[in-house]
Amino acid sequence: MTATIIDGKQLSQTKRSELAKEVEQIKAKGLLPKLVVILVGDNPASLSYIRGKQKASEEIGVGFKLEHFPAAFTEKELLDVIEHYNNNDEYHGILVQLPLPAHIDETAVVEAISPQKDVDGFHPINIGRMMTGQETFLPCTPAGIVEMIKSVGVEITGKNVVVVGRSNIVGKPVGQLLLNEHATVTYCHSKTKNLASYTKEADILVAAVGRANFIKGNDIKPGAVVIDVGVNRLDTGKLCGDVVFDEAKEVASFLTPVPGGVGPMTITMLAHNTVQSAKQFLSKQNS
Ligand code: NDP
Repeated sequence: MTATIIDGKQLSQTKRSELAKEVEQIKAKGLLPKLVVILVGDNPASLSYIRGKQKASEEIGVGFKLEHFPAAFTEKELLDVIEHYNNNDEYHGILVQLPLPAHIDETAVVEAISPQKDVDGFHPINIGRMMTGQETFLPCTPAGIVEMIKSVGVEITGKNVVVVGRSNIVGKPVGQLLLNEHATVTYCHSKTKNLASYTKEADILVAAVGRANFIKGNDIKPGAVVIDVGVNRLDTGKLCGDVVFDEAKEVASFLTPVPGGVGPMTITMLAHNTVQSAKQFLSKQNS
């Protein structure tokens, strides 16, 4: 079997064109959707992710502002900036780029963002709404993964899903979203014993570990849908995922590449959330 590659770039392009049309409609009603990204320090990976977010915003016509502060910026100063944007109606999305320098409490910062502008979907209120199946801002990487699976017509209901990784931003929420879609979900992590015995049973396998080439071809059930979230930089400078791509290609039915898979969809879902937020502001304005 040779897997069909789920092309995250192409799917993103389609979704971005749809979003651009929505933005035109919002603008016609007198509102410019706007996103502010707040960065503390100069983490090169963060700078690169932010460039992607800016490009996506520009592509769909969303206003974009970067607030870039030095690494020594204090938590109090950052909380004041967040408060400013919480109260600034010109901005509909606020994203604080993680990770933050060690002296800043990430939880306090995430909780300071107004849940109505939390386009990353990390605020506990939005996480709670996601868990209870309410409409809310969904975390971008997990939401993008669900879109990718649906885009190829794979039925999620009743499937055995195995998520390797249990971080708050990827592993846990992607499992929850797939549970909301009626899958049977198993989480694996660094303390899981005999990991392969789980991964081999997965109809849908999500690898969110952050270790290059961690999942081998013979860890995968023939015909499985394999979603590779990992972004790992090899000594050669090349990017690779958590899954051995060439091996998985021979076993899986569908497979996401790295790069060009989950990454572009993550950014597109951020654009989606920003547009949704602007729509909500518009309907509140008019009510
Ligand atoms: P974290 O480091 O926060 O989490 C990694 C998870 O993998 C943890 O739950 C950890 O278990 C688990 N793990 C580590 N080693 C093993 C092991 N030997 N066996 C089983 N499980 C293991 O990473 P993130 O969730 O933030 O990110 C995961 C990957 O996805 C990274 O490569 C990251 O760069 C990438 N990423 C990609 C995005 C995209 O848009 N494409 C977006 C976000 C992340 P434990 O909890 O027990 O420590």
